[in-house]
Amino acid sequence: MRDEAEHKSDSGAVGFGARRCRDAEGVSTRGGRVEKVRAAVDAPLLVTKPVNVLWLTGLDSSNAALLVEPDRLRIFTDFRYLEKARSTAAEVVEIPRGLFSKLPELLPKRIAFESESLVHASWAALDAAGIETVPTAQLVEGIRAVKEPDELDAIRRAAAITNGMLDRLAEQPFVGRTEAELAWWIESTMHELGAEGAAFPPIVAAGPNGALPHANPGARTIEEGQTVVVDAAAKVDGYHSDCTRTFATGPLPDELARSYAVCLEGQLAGLEATRAGRSGRDVDAVAREVIAGAGLGELFAHGLGHGVGMEIHEQPAMRPESEDVLAVDGVVTVEPGIYHPGLGGIRIEDLVIIGENEPEVLTTFTKELVTVGR
Ligand code: ZN
Ligand code: ZN
Repeated sequence: MRDEAEHKSDSGAVGFGARRCRDAEGVSTRGGRVEKVRAAVDAPLLVTKPVNVLWLTGLDSSNAALLVEPDRLRIFTDFRYLEKARSTAAEVVEIPRGLFSKLPELLPKRIAFESESLVHASWAALDAAGIETVPTAQLVEGIRAVKEPDELDAIRRAAAITNGMLDRLAEQPFVGRTEAELAWWIESTMHELGAEGAAFPPIVAAGPNGALPHANPGARTIEEGQTVVVDAAAKVDGYHSDCTRTFATGPLPDELARSYAVCLEGQLAGLEATRAGRSGRDVDAVAREVIAGAGLGELFAHGLGHGVGMEIHEQPAMRPESEDVLAVDGVVTVEPGIYHPGLGGIRIEDLVIIGENEPEVLTTFTKELVTVGR
């Protein structure tokens, strides 16, 4: 899936203290995660982005804040999440549903906070209480970008289900069916194969719709001689996968056939360049040069790829303005696209685990152009 929207969320938190945290008695890997956060900040960090709270503690809540201090770990949440919060390694403090009505009085006088998550009204409540606030950005996300073995395993399993779905999809009739019908087939097949759900609503974009990179599957009936962009993937144990393949419904117009070959060449060059130590910007440029060299650069208007994990779009980003550097055991997509307005689109997307050398490609369905029929 193409990286477009940024994710927004918020909740609240508290802290000060001297008690020893109980990480070691909880999930050991999560304790290690908290330690990495401690090492990265010089003030207590108020974590308010729900996916970061979940990753650090195991608590899945839309209304919780986590305070990470050098010697203490506390979750502030309302009564609905208490039981689950108590099963984590953190101390639990019950506060009202409007977390920030109570939270400021419980916090230390200086905290770091997640500036991309904390809404202004909540920040203002901290400020009004005289708390010195130090903004951070992408701090926990940067740590999450390097996956642990269990996380890689969940992503591998999600990708394997996606591969199985694509094997079956290639046997399905396309022509005469609607995009929406195929999208539903994809979603239900991934459930049958053991997914907890779709990583995002499947995209099936035929003919001119394929030229809109984020087309919603609609009532359009798929015709012969078109490209059909299928961007769909499974989610397993809270971890996403991501894959796009473009099918043909019979012989394609020359322009699309040539663009498919160019897109694949760019994708393979991008894959080859995806390795630890390189910047997201450089890898993007490698694929972009191939497509621009064929005179199609203006039709590739999005970034080459994005990180994938508990979020479908996370670090590292591979696009022209990215400053991210790829690290071993990061997970990224490599997904160039070429879009001909009014005619059709092509996108080829793999999901890979970054290594020192060639990446481990998790999406193994063929990238040769597959022709599907009636
Ligand atoms: Zn995708
Ligand atoms: Zn993607």
